[in-house]
Amino acid sequence: MSAWILGHKNPDSDSIISALACADLYTRRGLDVVPVAQGCPAPETRFILERFGVKAPEVIDSVAGRDVYLVDFSDKAQAPADIDQANLKGIVDHHKLGDVTSSSPIECVIWPVGCTCTVLKRMYDYTGFAVPAPIAGIMLCAILSDTVIFKSPTCTEADRQAARELAEIAGVADIEALGMEIFKAKSAVAGTAPRELIFRDFKDFNMNGSKIGVGQLELVSLDLVADMKGAIEEELARVKSEEGRHTALLLLTDIMKEGSELLMASDDPQRIARAFGHDPEELAKGHLWLDGVMSRKKQVVPALEAAFK
Ligand code: MG
Ligand code: MG
Ligand code: MG
Repeated sequence: MSAWILGHKNPDSDSIISALACADLYTRRGLDVVPVAQGCPAPETRFILERFGVKAPEVIDSVAGRDVYLVDFSDKAQAPADIDQANLKGIVDHHKLGDVTSSSPIECVIWPVGCTCTVLKRMYDYTGFAVPAPIAGIMLCAILSDTVIFKSPTCTEADRQAARELAEIAGVADIEALGMEIFKAKSAVAGTAPRELIFRDFKDFNMNGSKIGVGQLELVSLDLVADMKGAIEEELARVKSEEGRHTALLLLTDIMKEGSELLMASDDPQRIARAFGHDPEELAKGHLWLDGVMSRKKQVVPALEAAFK
């Protein structure tokens, strides 16, 4: 039985593409692995896979009895419910260390860079295997997506270097133009149900016993969702009431203005506002604008964790 390589729930482009790239690399190394995903590709990811002619991984929801490698996460909250019945073989990631554990030694590469595909590019180099052109193309796109075209505070020189090298392999002349194409594909939200928008890139975190869900929608302009905000907030209240959540947040990130509007449904909205240095009074006036906030991982989650200590 082949081992599975899988990314997190509500898969983003990095989660799906790092599973594909990791499976390519490990297969070259002689391992018996298959890339899988915990969901279908979102429109942005579909655009990327079509552009470079790569097939999406098979969707799975149970890993009991399987050997598994995790990419782009190591939190149980973002894994299939039966993750404890799987045999963890390895992790490739760029997030804070999560709460999975293993019964035998594992291969684990976690670096604080902007994208799992940056880590994987270094792993190709280290092991001496060449990245095939289509894989290089999709890895480049994952880096552009995760680093918001190099604008996110999570972006490092290693990401820029990996992107340059992958662009050369893939034959991409204008990296930034490709980045804008990706975010335009991601910004096509008209006619999408609020629930789908909330869950498109949504992660649950256990913060000192409170379950906090944080979604993020990165758009080229917030005008695109201006007349959907009321409906999104109603749905967010529903999401909060499900699965014992204390709070459900949605970050509407304007990638051109480089900041995020925070929509929330919470048992303690004041605490959330204060976590981001805002006067709770501002809540009465509507939504909170978080200037310069683009990264859930580096700016939002640490602020929330401090507030829930
Ligand atoms: Mg991800
Ligand atoms: Mg990632
Ligand atoms: Mg992201």
